Amino acid sequence: MAEIAENYKDYEPPEFVRGSIERLLRSLSPEHIAGLESIVLTNSAAVGRGKTHRIRGRKYQRNTCRGFYHCATQRERAWIEVIVDTTIGPLPRALLLTNAVPDFLLAQALYHEVGHHLDATVGSASRTGEAAAEDWRRRLTKIHMRRRYWYLFPLLVVLRFIFRLLGPAIDRQIDEAKRKAG
Ligand SMILES: [Zn+2]
Repeated sequence: MAEIAENYKDYEPPEFVRGSIERLLRSLSPEHIAGLESIVLTNSAAVGRGKTHRIRGRKYQRNTCRGFYHCATQRERAWIEVIVDTTIGPLPRALLLTNAVPDFLLAQALYHEVGHHLDATVGSASRTGEAAAEDWRRRLTKIHMRRRYWYLFPLLVVLRFIFRLLGPAIDRQIDEAKRKAG
C-alpha cells in the first residue's frame, strides 16, 4: 500500500482526514496503486500561491487545485499530492455525523489523481488525460460509496421521495405568503 505522508504549512487538518484517506485507499485493489510511492497530504499554503502548473498546455493556479499527480521518473516512483483545505472546504459539523461526506469529498481529489496514475500505467480503452482521470474518479467513488455506505442509499431514496411529495405543497405556501405580504 502507498505510504501516507503529511506536509502542511500553517495548517491543522481536521482529524477525520487521515482516516478518510486510509479508507479510500483500502477500497482500491493493489493493482490500482501498483507503482505508487506515496500520497502526500498538504495544503494550499504549502504548495505555494500564484505558481502555476502546466497540464496539457493549460495553466492552472496551483492553490485552487485539489491535487496533483507526479508521474514516475527515472529517479523516483509516482506520487500524489492531495490539497486538503481546497478539497474539503469549510465543512459544517452536522455533515460529519457520518464518514460518508468527508469520504466523498476527499475521493474527488484522491481518486482523480489515482485516475491519472491508472491512465499512465494501465491506460484506458478510449480516453486519456483529464477525461480518463474523471472517468476513474467517478467509477472508484461509486465503488467506495456503495461498499461503505450502502445503508445510506435507501435513506436518500426516501428523502428524495419526501421532497418530491412536499415540494409542490411548500411552493404553494411560499406563493401564498408572498401574496399576503403584498
Ligand atoms: Zn487532472
